[in-house]
Amino acid sequence: MTGSLLFPRRCPICDEIIESGKLICDKCIRIPRRVTGERCFKCSKHLDSPCVEYCPDCEKHKKAFLRGIALYEYDSVKDSINSFKNNARPEYAAFYADGIERYLSDIIKTFNADVLVPIPLHPTKFKKRGYNQSELLAKELSKRLGIPVDTHLLERTKKTKEQKKLSGNERLKNTVGAFHMPQNGVKYNNIILVDDVYTTGATLDEASRTLISGGLKNIYFVTVAIGSGS
Ligand SMILES: [Zn+2]
Ligand SMILES: [Zn+2]
Repeated sequence: MTGSLLFPRRCPICDEIIESGKLICDKCIRIPRRVTGERCFKCSKHLDSPCVEYCPDCEKHKKAFLRGIALYEYDSVKDSINSFKNNARPEYAAFYADGIERYLSDIIKTFNADVLVPIPLHPTKFKKRGYNQSELLAKELSKRLGIPVDTHLLERTKKTKEQKKLSGNERLKNTVGAFHMPQNGVKYNNIILVDDVYTTGATLDEASRTLISGGLKNIYFVTVAIGSGS
């Protein structure tokens, strides 16, 4: 699915063809901005005030996952992630996974995860797109972090609307009942959900709730990017 043998690799930011062996072109290397400074202890969003533990959203809405980590500020990689999902650029997964490995692997190790679980797409959407971007990302991460991937733990049973087109409340309603756990009695201690973007966290929260109602306990997440607003 990476197509690297048939097609030259493209820069995840400007989409120009890049030299073999590189994952981003020299011109764009400084464009993706990492989340830095004080972070929300729950979702890892940048905090404007260093005196609080949680961002306003995590303070207001209790999340089902224990905590998670994201690499980039969403606005700095928005177009890149959009192409990754909608313009057939599955190869960008390698660039994102490289960054996550380089900058976040120490934190990820503390999650002691048994497994990486990508957020599934609805089968209709999967058919249309030809791939699930979160699954590609999870597989690239698995190679680098040595944690196996389970693509069967969660299923998407409801066709949800695209979250970015909805308001905060609509997003919460949109994701309720979106997932299903087909097997019973699955034994994992610590699970990391993998997705491309954390915006309101509604999708990751709902996926975590589904896993928890299926008897699982410790759910974490890793995403490529996170929005900075609350
Ligand atoms: Zn570039
Ligand atoms: Zn937060």
